[in-house]
Amino acid sequence: MADWGVIGQESVTASLDSALRGGKVPHALLLAGPRGTGKGTVAQEVAARLLCREGPGAPPCGECPPCRHRLAGTAPDLLLIAPEEGEEIRVDSLRDMTRRAQLTPQESERRVVLVDPAEAMNAYAANALLKTLEEPPGQVTFLLVTHRPDRLLPTIRSRCQPFRFRPAAPNRVEEWLGRTHGLEGENAALAARLAGGAPGSALEAARRDLAGERDGLIEGLEAVRAQGGESLLGLAERWAKAEPESWLPHLQAWLRDLARVTVSGAQLGPERLVNFDRRERLAEEARRIRPDAALRLLRAGDRLGEAVADRSNTLLAIEEFLVWWRDPGSMPRSPAGH
Ligand SMILES: [Zn+2]
Repeated sequence: MADWGVIGQESVTASLDSALRGGKVPHALLLAGPRGTGKGTVAQEVAARLLCREGPGAPPCGECPPCRHRLAGTAPDLLLIAPEEGEEIRVDSLRDMTRRAQLTPQESERRVVLVDPAEAMNAYAANALLKTLEEPPGQVTFLLVTHRPDRLLPTIRSRCQPFRFRPAAPNRVEEWLGRTHGLEGENAALAARLAGGAPGSALEAARRDLAGERDGLIEGLEAVRAQGGESLLGLAERWAKAEPESWLPHLQAWLRDLARVTVSGAQLGPERLVNFDRRERLAEEARRIRPDAALRLLRAGDRLGEAVADRSNTLLAIEEFLVWWRDPGSMPRSPAGH
């Protein structure tokens, strides 16, 4: 079977492979699934095979004019629709695409339109795409990539053949980090579990000192509970000033693990615990806290994440969380949501 450069997506790549070999490519494909699972990589490969002069039955040759132009980023028959950083996809890009999609392909058998991420389309752009999908121009294949299919118009979704990407097993992600990027050891293992089976996210995470960040977080939390060492306010200020990426995912994973250990009380394996390598510490924590309090802390951690994302009163939200962490009994039974 062809190597698609992704892991854990065998069912997706096998059905794509057979559609491409059989020449039965749907005119619109929706590649959906969690971030970092390889949707973009697979979309590029599908586009490459559709454009290559050798035909879509085999991996792209890399040498024909469409392949060379694609590798140089200048393939005339590949229309990429992507937003500027943090922006939405506007209707102008769709109008321009629609106009070009009507033209005969220049070098390949067909044109490929790649929209990534598709959920970035605003309402006007989405409607423009829908019109095109309703009356698709011949010789055009649409590839829509999204990690939020729920944000697409149902009428767009229903016109695409869906391909669902799923998280890969953490041990496969860990193996892949070592084999393809030489990233190994405690840090890589933690990255694979923290990324929830998304190799792309794991790769990004494995390049940081994840284990160091995580251990620093645990120490801070323990100091606050013991009311020794760094004070609650000191820790809150430090978190508020730091990149949220350096502490928030660790905090949320720690709370999730703690809730799991507290509730199940069972021996959980590395596929269930992000901080599997700190399971003794988790078990110790779990003895000090009731399951309902662990679950409420978990929800409080989610809400803290929302406050941080909104940049609304981050410091205050962190302080509130840490007060609850220090004394879970002080948490309201059903804290007001936002
Ligand atoms: Zn080629």
